[in-house]
Amino acid sequence: MKKEVGEVILEAVHGDIASQPDMTAIVNAANAQLMPGGGVAGAIHRAAGPGLAEECRPLAPIEPGQAIISGAHNLPNKYVIHCLGPVYGNDKPENILLADCYRNSLRLADEKQIDSIAFPAISTGIFGYPFEAATDITLQTILEVIPDLKYVRHIRFVLFGEEDFEVYVERLRDIK
Ligand code: ADP
Repeated sequence: MKKEVGEVILEAVHGDIASQPDMTAIVNAANAQLMPGGGVAGAIHRAAGPGLAEECRPLAPIEPGQAIISGAHNLPNKYVIHCLGPVYGNDKPENILLADCYRNSLRLADEKQIDSIAFPAISTGIFGYPFEAATDITLQTILEVIPDLKYVRHIRFVLFGEEDFEVYVERLRDIK
């Protein structure tokens, strides 16, 4: 499912964030220590190999809402942008911190002249953010940032669950 917004293509796919070879950058739903873990971070570090954790070690810890960039090592991409989402019910205000994740990741991507970037649904796994509420914040933030982007032209959302994918398809359809 693709949707054009100005000069940018928004796309939702059902799949694995670590298997997006046509994207210049992928975003990691990182932990503060930028180390391998479960979910997205586990899949990305497994595919990237140990060099990714080594490169990230001096950049940790990061704060909720913050994004940093690294190489992609054995992944088929050029960069990984690591972003720490808020833990729902704990890091507040969680809606602002989640919006910061997407805003800061996109700004960083644009600074690096990255044309295509794939996001997972940050904070909606182990960090417990209700999926539909997180999706609304994500898309609202991205629509706000799009007019400022000079290089990013393709933003993909990679959803692991079939139902999660359907939520994105519906929300993308609703964008005027
Ligand atoms: P967080 O700690 O930020 O909540 P998680 O990695 O636990 O991050 O999960 C974030 C979202 O990513 C969840 O919706 C989860 O279902 C999904 N997810 C888990 N593994 C993958 C993967 N390999 N590719 C894409 N999405 C994934």
